[in-house]
Amino acid sequence: MTGAGTLDAWAGRRMALGHAPSRAEVETYRLDRLNAVIAEARARSPFYRSRRDWPADDRLATLADLGRLPFTCPDDLGRADPTLTALPLRDAARLVTIPTSGTSGAPKRIFFTEADIEATIDYFRRGMATLVRPGETVAVAFPTRTPGSVGDLLMRGLTRLDAEPLALPVDGTIDAVVAALRAARPTAIAGMPVTLGAAVRRSASDGGSPLRIETALVSADTISPSLRLALADLWGCEVFDHWGMTETGYGGALACHAHDGLHIRETDLHVEIVDPLTGRPVLDGTTGEIVLTTLTRAGQPLIRYRTGDLAAIDPRPCRCGSVLRRLKNLKGHAAGKIVLRSGHSLDIDIIDDAVFSAAGVIDFMATATAGPPVRLRLDIVAGAPSAVPKVRAALAGRTDIAAALAAGDLVLDIAEAAGAAWPICRKRRLRAPGSPSPDGPEPTRPAALYS
Ligand SMILES: [Zn+2]
Repeated sequence: MTGAGTLDAWAGRRMALGHAPSRAEVETYRLDRLNAVIAEARARSPFYRSRRDWPADDRLATLADLGRLPFTCPDDLGRADPTLTALPLRDAARLVTIPTSGTSGAPKRIFFTEADIEATIDYFRRGMATLVRPGETVAVAFPTRTPGSVGDLLMRGLTRLDAEPLALPVDGTIDAVVAALRAARPTAIAGMPVTLGAAVRRSASDGGSPLRIETALVSADTISPSLRLALADLWGCEVFDHWGMTETGYGGALACHAHDGLHIRETDLHVEIVDPLTGRPVLDGTTGEIVLTTLTRAGQPLIRYRTGDLAAIDPRPCRCGSVLRRLKNLKGHAAGKIVLRSGHSLDIDIIDDAVFSAAGVIDFMATATAGPPVRLRLDIVAGAPSAVPKVRAALAGRTDIAAALAAGDLVLDIAEAAGAAWPICRKRRLRAPGSPSPDGPEPTRPAALYS
């Protein structure tokens, strides 16, 4: 592989270099941008200007000096006084409001200028150009109607790439989504794991003609090994992961053809990995919490923003030729988990992998009630009869779950559900009982994705 399929040439242009950067040039760019961002934030943002824990000398001589500055947290995005934004509200091309379960209770407000939106469209265009060719039909399995939403920006990026974007009817049923795929026969698709999982399994079990899709971009949530396999087996997909959240301007890090980590959007984001408990930086290769500093967001600079997501950094050059650093071992923060009396825990990854290993399951919703014993309710949407006993058997086949069932620490309630009222686009999540909606209150610290 060569550098042709990478974002490096684009990154070089965005860094005003005119050529694909060397690693040293990326480091210089980052240090320059960080110093500029810090100076601008202190001058223009009331929140940063009034922080008492800010060091008197905030000039960075090295990237490591950034660790002297205090963290910013999701709650800080909800503050009205002092506000974190550095430009007047009239300069916002889009404001995204995301409910949080943080201590302030105020929703996060995320501010995008026209330039931020333009940067994301450009990133989507260049990123998709490493995965699909002009002229290809690319199905977009995100809501696309809201201007400035992730689906809208992806559609606009694909249009600039001269691809043919196809907005799937994700506000309807999964059958409508599958029908749209059969009608348009796209060669690529982008969406969340829940959406793509339901579509691939439905299309394989409804008796209709098989679909062939070469490329799947999976975003906004981590994908389970069983779904990755299903996309490869049933549609013939090469699966590419993307990580991002509203706070990153949607685009954050993208896999390449080497499938050995996700290259960080280092033109616009500085990523640190810290120990989630101590807040101290960890060594490259060690998993910890992703902490972000935005490098180009004038309206709402985020400095050392704690995302709650986990990953490790691989700084080595990639086989694809890119010098952009990579994120590995990504894990979302908000999915929730059950802690059993034995001390073992069950999270949505484990449950998801077990449930989908049962033939015929298209979608499910998991709700946990604290114990002991913990009650785990699974509502299963199935395209084949007798899925419930298969799911029960699949769960009981996992050593941890079998032990918890035998010890009386866990009770499973499994039922078939129609599922029609569930949003097709949602994150995988272990819900608490009484959650008003499948995307309702987050069980742990918030940092919402793609609202
Ligand atoms: Zn690569």
